[in-house]
Amino acid sequence: MMKYNVTLKVLFACGLIAGTGLRTDVRAQIPGDKADSIAASKIFVHTGFENASPMNWRIDSAGRVVGSLVYDHERFSRNRAVNHFHFRVEAATGTEVTVILENFDNIWNNRFASDLSERSRFVISFDHKKWESRSIEVVPGRRMLFRFRMEAPFAYIASVEPYRVSDLEKMLATIGKNKLAAVTTIGKTAEGRSLEIIRIGNENAPKRLFLRARAHAFEAGGNWTVEGLVQKLLSNDDDAKRYLKRYCVYILPMANKDGVARGKTRFNANGYDLNRKWDKPADELIAPENYYLEQWLQKMIRANKKPDLALDVHNDAGGNLHISRPDGDITDYLARMDKLESLLRKHTWFTEGATKASFRNPGTLGEGFLTRLGIYAAVYELNYEWIKGLNKAPLAADWISLGNKLPEVFYHYFE
Ligand SMILES: [Zn+2]
Repeated sequence: MMKYNVTLKVLFACGLIAGTGLRTDVRAQIPGDKADSIAASKIFVHTGFENASPMNWRIDSAGRVVGSLVYDHERFSRNRAVNHFHFRVEAATGTEVTVILENFDNIWNNRFASDLSERSRFVISFDHKKWESRSIEVVPGRRMLFRFRMEAPFAYIASVEPYRVSDLEKMLATIGKNKLAAVTTIGKTAEGRSLEIIRIGNENAPKRLFLRARAHAFEAGGNWTVEGLVQKLLSNDDDAKRYLKRYCVYILPMANKDGVARGKTRFNANGYDLNRKWDKPADELIAPENYYLEQWLQKMIRANKKPDLALDVHNDAGGNLHISRPDGDITDYLARMDKLESLLRKHTWFTEGATKASFRNPGTLGEGFLTRLGIYAAVYELNYEWIKGLNKAPLAADWISLGNKLPEVFYHYFE
């Protein structure tokens, strides 16, 4: 680089650079190892569609796709994250493709915390409908490597089975026609997308449940779970009738819509983590997704309709139920969370358990709702790499099945 700059300075000083001559000379100065490492290829990587991840890519001299994922950054912090990847490889059917992905040096709560391990997976689809989960290798430089054969001219690759804004819109359109449900717009995201609350059941039912999904853009598992839950509650079968006699459900299904639309990993469009800073009211401009949720909650509380339980559904590589442990007497809350945990174990494939007594993550929705609003709340993490209880890597169908079973959990929780 130094030599390149010096050469340019000399050329400028001598007045030797002019017109197209500049471009030729500069190109000649690009270090050989870099220029040679970019090969022409009959493989193209498409990142220009809904929820595709921003990514720089090249084909190296061995013909492999090398994708440099783009970090999602938090405002005024060191935190950055890459968990989401979603792109389309285009090549002739039968082509053997090797992909190397890099930039997994995440910073979480101000410390390095890469999720990349031998347990990491990717999902692949040749029609963006039927997905399969496959294993990966971790190669030096904390990079992910995997190979596959093109079974069609297009191969969609993603970190988890994608759930896009358009998938949500399809569900909302179905719900809109159902007498048991209603969709209300409560505000707008930073980029102006609408934020909806879905209500399922009778507003005057004895108990109320609030669910939020997709505060973090890559965590599609929460949306698939909501799909399954909505499907069950609107099935109008005997179980669904029994559930809705006891409780009414309110759902904010996709808090971080902007991040989902843009194929980002974690933060909202302003670099705000929607599962942090719940110890105080959110700023309307920087975090409208949280601001409008809180406005709606305050309205519910004023109308004597405070939720009796709130769950914030996420994805991580652990799969635990994150119990809040603020200072003060939380004996009753902990007893209720014990009950929730045992019901999850009994009625669903959940086996990962609750976080230990030493675990605290202040500022999450779980802790903020409990301390500021008096709502019993927890963060429910779904392991996006492996479901222990099923002994398999998760696909959308598994999370939908979890969503189908959750209403039974809440029925007994509210007993
Ligand atoms: Zn999350």
